[in-house]
Amino acid sequence: MANVSETLLRDFKLRSTPNRQEILHLFLQKEYALSHADIEKEIDNALDRVTVYRTLKTFLDRGLIHKVLDDEGSLKYALCNAACTTAGHHHDHVHFKCTKCGQTCCLNTEVPPVKLPKGYKASTVNLLIQGICERCSE
Ligand SMILES: [Zn+2]
Ligand SMILES: [Zn+2]
Ligand SMILES: [Zn+2]
Repeated sequence: MANVSETLLRDFKLRSTPNRQEILHLFLQKEYALSHADIEKEIDNALDRVTVYRTLKTFLDRGLIHKVLDDEGSLKYALCNAACTTAGHHHDHVHFKCTKCGQTCCLNTEVPPVKLPKGYKASTVNLLIQGICERCSE
């Protein structure tokens, strides 16, 4: 069986290490954004904080994952779509935070264009919608 995380790492020209594979695998498994603490909790072979931090930073720089801001103030991360590369991130989708299960996920919905006042120039857009997710409303 082909190892998805290994293929992905290779596609992004990253050396495949057990740590990177494990963290990436976690992102592939989960349908919602993960915080630093989530990752540390889920990974059983005791990775130190610095390793997790560094790995996330590498993934972020390479266009593998992106930052997800939610209302808790803790930064979360989610996998990028195919449009993101080392050259930069290309997405402006909506993030949805479920108030019932507490999970934040990426929606396949674009942030509607926002008209800014004269003199303002946007570089990144974050839109967080809170409510009840698909799974919790069933
Ligand atoms: Zn991205
Ligand atoms: Zn939910
Ligand atoms: Zn996202």
